[in-house]
Amino acid sequence: MVRAVNLRVVVTWSVAATLLVLVGLAMRHNNNQVEGNFLRTAARPLDALQRVPPEPLAEPRQQDVVEGNNNRVGSGKRCDSEKWVEGLPPLYIITPTYPRAEQVPELTRTGQTLMHVNNVVWIVSEDAAVATKAVVQYLNESILNTIYLRVQMPVKYKKVKNKPRGVANRMAGLNWIREHAKDGVLYFADDDNTYDIRIFQQMRWTRKVSMFPVGLVTKLGVSTPIVKEGKVVGFYDGWIAKRKFPVDMAGFAVNVQYLLERPLASMPYKVGYEEDGFMKSLGIKASEIEPLAFNCTKIWVWHTQTKKNEPAIPVNRTRATFGSNLDIISEQLWRGTGTNS
Ligand code: UDP
Ligand code: MN
Repeated sequence: MVRAVNLRVVVTWSVAATLLVLVGLAMRHNNNQVEGNFLRTAARPLDALQRVPPEPLAEPRQQDVVEGNNNRVGSGKRCDSEKWVEGLPPLYIITPTYPRAEQVPELTRTGQTLMHVNNVVWIVSEDAAVATKAVVQYLNESILNTIYLRVQMPVKYKKVKNKPRGVANRMAGLNWIREHAKDGVLYFADDDNTYDIRIFQQMRWTRKVSMFPVGLVTKLGVSTPIVKEGKVVGFYDGWIAKRKFPVDMAGFAVNVQYLLERPLASMPYKVGYEEDGFMKSLGIKASEIEPLAFNCTKIWVWHTQTKKNEPAIPVNRTRATFGSNLDIISEQLWRGTGTNS
């Protein structure tokens, strides 16, 4: 009798547990279905993270940095890290940067984010008269697949108060892609923004031009395409200013083949109109834009800004510090224009 009751309890619980597992599986399948149409990343954040293979140990290694003609420095290596997955389109991430106290910290944050992404070629393009030693050293020690370029903002733009920041160096990155890339996707990632790795996983599949929301832009708090039924029908941005594409630099990605088919595409030295000018030069139609981040319902890029820091005061070389780590540390400190490069 007791045994019969026990058996019934066991059977009842087994059936219940099986049902629970089945319901769980069905829900998971459903989730994947929802995002499977237009997004190729996991629906649940944990899944997305688990897809990233374990990091190889960060062994410092040498990388050729060749001072080239044309006021540029070029270096190139194809990724040999475990992060390169055959068959996955490469992401060419162009990061304009310039010398200042926050430069290496910003590149560190951006670089650490990119370490979570497969098949990245990180093009760090510095707006400087000479290469900043600390930057080149940082890239050399990085396990990332990096390209270092250097170019200067033309003098005539440097003189004006409102400068077209990062245009010359973004263009240098574009030219590098034109010379070296044949497929994949390009994205302009300023050194000081904040990126969720899911946006990289999604933008990789851009066919022409994809767009997505950028947080912390203007008083509206966001700049985003307006999406209805999966189509871009307009733009929500605090500064429309007669722009056909009122978008932020961090809010779009471009297919490399699409770019290569448009050899005249370029970014104008026109403050506030850099993105609009670039989009127009690509000749993309609003109806062709591919909205990402779940039809632009997620903010996965933030236009963060870092507090300005003063240049560091030189290390006081006393008997106590001489011959110590401070000799080495002092070389890495930003001490103002030209002094640490
Ligand atoms: N930048 C540059 N040269 C400059 C100023 C800025 O290359 O003289 C880069 C900077 O590192 C960043 C991008 O251009 O990646 C945008 O600059 P910033 O963040 O100062 O502009 P904001 O985001 O405030 O518009
Ligand atoms: Mn910025």
